[in-house]
Amino acid sequence: MSEEFFWWNDEQKAIYKDVRQFVQDNFEEAEEYFWNTKFPWSLVKKVAKKGYFGVGVPKEYGGLELGATGSCIVAAQLGRLYAVGHVFTVSILAGLEQLLRFGTEDQKRTWLPKIASGEELGALCITEPFAGSDAANVFTSAIKDGDEWIINGKKRFITGAGVSDRYFIYAKTSDDKALRKQYGHITAFMVEKGRPGFSLEKINPLIGFDNVPNGYIDFDHVRIPDINRIGAVGNGWNVMMAGLNFERLIGAAVFSGLFEDVIALLFHFTKRRVQFRKTTNQFPGIQEGIAEIITKAKVSRLFSYHCAKLIDDGGEPMVEASIAKMINTEYARDIGLKAIQILGGDGLTKFLPAERILREAKVGEIVAGTTEVQKMIIYRFCAMLPFYNKPMRMRWSDEANAPIISKRESQFKGMDVTENNVLKVISHDYKINPGLYMTPDDVREDIGGGRSELRKIFEQLEQQGLIVIHRDRSGKTALVKATYDGLQKAFPKEYYRWFPDWYEDADKF
Ligand SMILES: Cc1cc2nc3c(=O)[nH]c(=O)nc-3n(C[C@H](O)[C@H](O)[C@H](O)COP(=O)(O)OP(=O)(O)OC[C@H]3O[C@@H](n4cnc5c(N)ncnc54)[C@H](O)[C@@H]3O)c2cc1C
Repeated sequence: MSEEFFWWNDEQKAIYKDVRQFVQDNFEEAEEYFWNTKFPWSLVKKVAKKGYFGVGVPKEYGGLELGATGSCIVAAQLGRLYAVGHVFTVSILAGLEQLLRFGTEDQKRTWLPKIASGEELGALCITEPFAGSDAANVFTSAIKDGDEWIINGKKRFITGAGVSDRYFIYAKTSDDKALRKQYGHITAFMVEKGRPGFSLEKINPLIGFDNVPNGYIDFDHVRIPDINRIGAVGNGWNVMMAGLNFERLIGAAVFSGLFEDVIALLFHFTKRRVQFRKTTNQFPGIQEGIAEIITKAKVSRLFSYHCAKLIDDGGEPMVEASIAKMINTEYARDIGLKAIQILGGDGLTKFLPAERILREAKVGEIVAGTTEVQKMIIYRFCAMLPFYNKPMRMRWSDEANAPIISKRESQFKGMDVTENNVLKVISHDYKINPGLYMTPDDVREDIGGGRSELRKIFEQLEQQGLIVIHRDRSGKTALVKATYDGLQKAFPKEYYRWFPDWYEDADKF
C-alpha cells in the first residue's frame, strides 16, 4: 500500500515519504494519547511545525501548495494517528477552499497563513440541532448592525469544538421564503474564539473519535466585523458547496492510511495464531477475508487520488467526491468488521487497532453528509449527465424479428399527425416495450408534429379511453400509454403476437 501514483509530482512524492516517516516516528505517542483519552496537543504542534496544515495553501500565503492530492496524502497518513488526522482534516476544511474561491485578497492574507501555520486550529460549523442533512435550513442568524454582524444560535457536532480558535460558520441572513427556496439566505462568516457571547456548550461522548473533542457551541449576540464575512451576503450556499467536494474527499482519504495498518496487523497476527495445529492464515476463509480487505483498500485509495487529480485539474467532481466519501467509509466499516472476525476475540479488545476502525467508520458514514445523502447526490447529478442519458429507443427490426436499440427512423415518420396515427405510434410501442410508457417527445420523434398539437390529440385519445396519461405534479402530460381498447383499435391482435422459432404451432392458441 505504499505505492506512489505516477501522476503525482515530485513535491507530492516527497511529502508522501516525509509524512510517512513522521507517522512512524510519532505512532507510539499517538497511541499513548489514545489510551489516556487526551487531546494530542504536542502532536498537533509537531504537525504544525512540519508545515502540513499548509499542504493545500498556495505558497504566496505561506503554504506548500500541493493541492487536493497533497492534502489527501497528508490526511491519509495522519489518519493513522487517529485524533491527529481528524483535527488536521477539519482544520483545513474550515475555510481553505472557501477562502481561496470567495475570500477577498485581504481575507486571504489574514486567514490563509493562519491555516497554513497550524498554530491555531479551525472548526467547520454547518450542523445545528434542527439542521443536519438539510444543511441550508440553518436557524443561527446573523443580523447586520452598522459595520458589524450580530450572531445568535447554536451549532452542534462540531469537530474540534473548544480546542479550535477559528470557527467557519454559516448563518441565515434572510427569512425571505423565496430566497430560502433558492438557498439565497445563508452567509458564511469566520468567528474567532474569545468574542464576547461565544461559548462552548457541550462535548459529546461518541462511539468513535475517542480523544477528539466534538460538541455544541453557542452564539449569544456575538458581534463580528463585516470583514469576517466570506463571500457575498446570501451566497453562503455556494461558499459551502465550494468546500464540499474537497471536504468529502479529505474526509474519505483520512481512512485509507488506517487500511494499510489493518492489513499489516492481519498478516502479522494470522502468521502467529495457531488453531487446529495450523496458523490461521492457512485457512482459506481467512485468506479470502484478507484479500477482500486489500482489494477494498486499493480501490478506495485509487478512487480518492483520481478524485483529487480532478480537483487539482480545476474540475468540480461532485459525483466522484461523493463516491470517494461513500466507498471509503463503507469500506472502512466492512474492513473493520472483517478484520475483527479474522482476529477473533482479540479483535474485539481495544488492545488491537481493529475495533477502532469500525467505530471510526460508523462516524464516517454519517459525518460530512451521510451515505444516503451521497447516494442522492450521485443519482441526481448522474441523472442529468448527457453521458448517461443517451438515446436508447428501440425499433422493430424485421431482419432480427425483434426489437433492437436502433437509430433508424420510426416507420411512422412523415405520416399525418392524426388521432389514429398517434394511437398507432403509441400502440406500436407496446409491441416494442410492453411495460413502458412513452414521453410526449418520444411520440413526437416517431411521428413529428408540434408539442401543443400532440398534447391536444393525447387529451382527445384520453377522453375516448384509448390512452392513459400520466401527469406530473404541475398537471403536465409526462408519459402516455395505450389502454387495452386503444391497442385493439390501433392494430389487429396478430400485430402484437410473437413466438420464438422453437415454439410449436400446436401449442399456440
Ligand atoms: C463525529 C461527528 C463529527 C461531526 N463533525 C461536524 C463538523 O465538524 N461540522 C459540522 O458542521 N457538522 C459535523 N457533524 C455533523 C454531521 O455532518 C451530521 O451529523 C450529518 O450531516 C447528518 O446530520 P444529522 O446527524 O442531523 O442526521 P439527519 O440529517 O437527521 O439524518 C438522519 C437519517 O436520515 C437520513 N436522511 C436525511 N435526509 C435524507 C434524505 N433527503 N433522503 C434520504 N435519507 C435522508 C440520513 O441519511 C440519516 O440516516 C459531525 C457529526 C458527527 C457524528
